[in-house]
This record gives sequence, C-alpha cells and structure tokens, in this order.
Amino acid sequence: MKNNSIPYKIYLTEDEMPKSWYNVKARMKNKHAPFVNPKTQKPCTKDDLKSVFCDECIEQELNDTDEFIEIPQGIRDFYKMFRPSPLVRAYFLERLLDTPAQIYYKFEGNNTSGSHKLNSAAAQAYYAKKQGLKSITTETGAGQWGTALAMAAAFYGLNLDVYMVKVSAEQKPHRREVIRTYGANVIPSPSDTTNAGRKILAEFPGTGGSLGCAISEAVEKATKTESCRYVLGSVLDHVLLHQTVIGQESKIAMDKYGITPDVIIGCCGGGSNFGGLIAPFMGERLCGKNNIEFIGVEPASCPSLTKGKFAYDYCDSARTTPMAKMYTLGCGFMPSPSHAGGLRYHGMSPIISQLYRDGYIKAITAEQSAVFEAAVMFAKCEGILPAPESSHAIRAAIDTAVECKKTGEKKTVLFGLTGTGYFDMSAYKKYNDGAMSDVIPTDADLQKGFDTIPKCKVNEDIL
Ligand SMILES: *Cc1c(COP(=O)(O)O)cnc(C)c1O
Repeated sequence: MKNNSIPYKIYLTEDEMPKSWYNVKARMKNKHAPFVNPKTQKPCTKDDLKSVFCDECIEQELNDTDEFIEIPQGIRDFYKMFRPSPLVRAYFLERLLDTPAQIYYKFEGNNTSGSHKLNSAAAQAYYAKKQGLKSITTETGAGQWGTALAMAAAFYGLNLDVYMVKVSAEQKPHRREVIRTYGANVIPSPSDTTNAGRKILAEFPGTGGSLGCAISEAVEKATKTESCRYVLGSVLDHVLLHQTVIGQESKIAMDKYGITPDVIIGCCGGGSNFGGLIAPFMGERLCGKNNIEFIGVEPASCPSLTKGKFAYDYCDSARTTPMAKMYTLGCGFMPSPSHAGGLRYHGMSPIISQLYRDGYIKAITAEQSAVFEAAVMFAKCEGILPAPESSHAIRAAIDTAVECKKTGEKKTVLFGLTGTGYFDMSAYKKYNDGAMSDVIPTDADLQKGFDTIPKCKVNEDIL
C-alpha cells in the first residue's frame, strides 16, 4: 500500500450519517417537464398518481423546492442495519494499473439484497406502512430490487407480490428463493395473472420479458387490489432522492479527508444510483462551486441516453403509467437478454435526462465483454465480486485511470460500486467459458423501439 494518509476504507460514525435526503431539483434552473396524464395530455395532479403510489412518495416526487428532505427516524433506524457503507480507496487497483489517478469507490453491496436498492426499499415500505396499506407490488429485473423490497416489507410488516422478469427468474433461481425466504410471492413475468401480461404473451410468445412489461403487471395488480400500492425501484424522482444517502455519505467522508473528486462515474439503468451518488456534488456544481465531470455508463445493448430520443413516454411497456419526459428508446423497445438485468430499461430518470440535456452530465456505453473483463480484473485485485451492472462503472473508472497514465494527469476518480454479483454466476460462467457475446441494437432495432414512442400532443415538437 502507498504511504498515504487516506485509509483504505473510510466509514462514518452513526452521528455523521446524513439526517436528510438531498433534493437536487431545488438547485436545477431547468426543472424537468412534469408527468403527463396520457388521457388528458395535461400535467398529472396528485389525484392522478394516488391510485398507484403512496401519498408521501407523491409529495416527494412533486417537490422541486426543498433542498433537504428529512429522513424519518423509523427509516434511519433501518438504515443503521446496513449503513454507513464504506468509501474505499482502490489502492490495489491503482497499483495494478500503475496510474497516477486516485480511485475511490462507494460500496453499496454490503447487505443481503447485494445492492443500493435497499436505500429506497426501506423508505417506500416505511411510507406504505405509515399510510396503513396492507400490501405492495413491484417488478424486479436482476432480482436485487425484489430482494431489497422483500427485506423491507418483512421489516415493516407488509405483504408483497414481486413480478420478476422471466429471464432473470430462470437465470437466477436462487435469487428467487431469497425473495421467497423473506416472505414475498414471486411471479415470473410476463404472466397470465394480469391483462398486461396476457397481452404481451400473445404478441411475443416465448419472450424472456422486460422490466417495462413486469412494471405493467405490477401496476395493474396494485390498482385492482384493495389497500395496495405499486412501488418502483428506479427512474422516479423520489427513488433517486432516497439514493442520495450514497452521495451524501461519500461527500461527508471525502470532505473529512480533504478529497475533491475530478470525475464521478456511475452505471445507469433507470438512473437512481448514479443520480443519488452525484446529487450533492451536482448541487454544488449547479451553483458554480466545482467543475466535476459526471459520467453515466450504460450498456451498449440498451443505450437510452446515448441513442435515445428526448420525449414523453410511458414508464412501462403496457402503457399503464403516466408519461414522463425522458431519454427513451421507446416503451416497446425489447433489449437483448444481456447479463446486466438491472440496466435493461428503455427510459432514464427525468432528473438525469434533464441534466444530460443541459450538458452537466456525459454519457458513454460499454460492451458486455469489456465490462466483464473489468469485473474480473477488479475482483482479483480488490477482492469484491462485482455485479455486472456495477462493472459498467468499473470499466469506465479503469479506462479513465489508464488515460491518466498516458497523460500524466493525477485525477481523483470516484465511482459507485452498486452491488455484488453472487447471483450472476451464469453470466460469469459464460465469460469464463469464452462464450459471451456483445449484442448491440442496429438502427433498425432502434427504429422499431422509437416507433413505440407515443405520437401525441405533448410530443408534437419531436415527432
Ligand atoms: C438496479 C441496479 C442498478 C441500476 O439501477 P439504477 O436505478 O440505474 O441505479 C445498478 N446496479 C445494481 C447492482 C442494481 O441492482
């Protein structure tokens, strides 16, 4: 280890942990466009959202004025079980790369769900319980979100139905069993338990499913069940808000040691971990206090920011949710069955989309085999077996550090290590067997998706 005063791991004390979430929207001059009710083509009212989401989450969703939103004690108590998460100086990776760059990662995989998703699951289950609801529904892709919500539902005492993307349920039978162990009911999607599922099965028999399709099923189940609400693990503003504990803990730890990042990198599925990681730093950037480079990394197989259109679209493939203005590949886009299940989503957080639109964020793509190459390199020198999703950020961090070696720049790089890959061994097996392929959508594939972006009044200017 280098002779340096920065410890390998920086942990905050319980007292130093953030007591509120950071609402970056309060600092954004250009607020993102409001949700639109597809029937009226008018901005959604609270009542439009009430049959789907919990009341408190809707308040947070629509709040773009309060910079800090208090974390209730009941949630902070749960957070104490798995937070603070460590900020790690990747000394061993730096040594391997022989780079002048300093690399840090914020590790969110130290809980049974194996990812950052528990940060929002805890909050959403707490609010559902507080509102007196009996049950919640959700979708899960890779399974991390389903596990996180099952843990939170068990802790606060709620029933939970999880619609799990069929390819994931088949690739990861053990993940499914963990979810059931925490008491939730798992239904592979598309299923014949909802109209949305039956319709997709008829249209695409044999499909492995998609996050968008599983969302449709979970929303339908929630709206048709008494005292039940739908809970979403990404994309929405309140989910990103809950994830800001990641960025705030990182910032508090870095400030304590006088570390200032030059580059912050995160993988992007629906944008919640990346948004949560960068939020407090972006807040300062928006008032001219830093010049950090923010880089979002998406899979080449599902390139919403880099190839998508900035348009109003549904958040799900069955067109049941309100429409959000975001970068999207089209709600009918069917991504190839890549191994980063948590990144297979057609759209992107409206907050991330707006910040990208306004030039505050860069976006890049990474191909699957390059991602696994980075994952294995990281596992060997830093010890942690990373999730395929997180490994997109590792790839970009390594590339940045290698670039620094060429230019001699001593950049300080921070990346989000969102989770562990223990349930992704079929993907690692493919990589180890040399059987992994890179599927990148052609222009024709993309066009097929774009054709499913709603041709409606609010999209007049782009279609
Ligand atoms: C879900 C997930 C992601 C992607 O979701 P975001 O909302 O974009 O953060 C990334 N990494 C892991 C480990 C995940 O489980």
